[in-house]
Amino acid sequence: MSGIYIHIPFCKQACHYCDFHFSTSLKKKDELVHALAKELVLRKDEFKNQKVETIYFGGGTPSLLSIEELQFLIDEVYKNYEVSENPEITLEANPDDLTHQKLNDYAASPINRLSIGIQSFFEEDLKLMNRAHNSEEAKKCLEEATKHFENISIDLIYGIPGMSNARWIQNLEMALAFNIPHISSYALTVEPKTPLATFIKKGIIKNVDDDLAQEQFHIMIEKLEAAGFIHYELSNFGKPGYFSRNNSAYWQGKPYLGIGPSAHSFDGKHRSWNVRNNSKYINSLNEDVVPIETETLSITDKYNEYVMTGLRTIWGVSLKKVELEFGEHYKNYLLDQAQKHIIQQLLYLDDGKLLVTKKGKFLSDGIASDLFKINLS
Ligand code: SF4
Repeated sequence: MSGIYIHIPFCKQACHYCDFHFSTSLKKKDELVHALAKELVLRKDEFKNQKVETIYFGGGTPSLLSIEELQFLIDEVYKNYEVSENPEITLEANPDDLTHQKLNDYAASPINRLSIGIQSFFEEDLKLMNRAHNSEEAKKCLEEATKHFENISIDLIYGIPGMSNARWIQNLEMALAFNIPHISSYALTVEPKTPLATFIKKGIIKNVDDDLAQEQFHIMIEKLEAAGFIHYELSNFGKPGYFSRNNSAYWQGKPYLGIGPSAHSFDGKHRSWNVRNNSKYINSLNEDVVPIETETLSITDKYNEYVMTGLRTIWGVSLKKVELEFGEHYKNYLLDQAQKHIIQQLLYLDDGKLLVTKKGKFLSDGIASDLFKINLS
């Protein structure tokens, strides 16, 4: 099982909170698409003897590509890799791009899953975040998209300054009314060097309130679980049969190939990342060189990553797996470190797995770092 992630580094406008890699100038779009195709060809041997189960167009804003460009890249994957019979092919899309025509085109293509960046159904929130769409477009696009696709995920953001719990509940209820099977939801985080960080520093926008964000996180769990969603990863909720196959593979430590500027890859032993600059990426691929840096993961790195991702998911951290893959010493260390969190009812053991409790969920990244190992010993 393996997946291919293709990064499309273009956006119509910069959202105030975003620190992903993208450019708002589309001048190099053609060249970039050809460079992506070249990278797919140059790296095909990395997936020898492995079937591609998922293809994921992320960004940036992949819905800025034409259907012909997307189809061209999908064809390149099929030409150079062995793709399973029933791959999950996801396209991240923004509401303002999802015209009737585009949805028709996507539905007629091999794309079979949409991940739509709704973020909020309310004008105030969308303006504060500088999203390119408005509240009307958020609703309209879902009305249309659900006519063409069954497998739809939407992104929602909570903890937005000025967003009350009542408005958050309305957002969730609006999402539920569209009967979509998957929701990804993140707390608004203030990344350094973003316009949001500057506005907060200057007092133009109120700072995020962590306590309110935590309340909204718990409201979300309650509402979505009551509506039949499974909270299968800290930021992800899916109806049975609709978990993201692509993301589940990441969280379970499966290999993936990241194509495009800033994309990361993992082959089970090494982590690598492409240059985070569109011109450098294109120029390098024009010379048939993938601009990539690689690090070999130590056993401690792998243990730490497994603990971090495992605690975020319903699959938890398997003590057996820790013992088999990292050794008894690591298992004992994990159990020792976990003890105080178990006493505080933030973690619990169930059937040989370490899991976060309801109370521990919002704190799971912090708890995980407390279980990390720093030195090999
Ligand atoms: S559309 Fe997505 S990738 Fe682009 S700026 Fe906004 S949040 Fe960032």
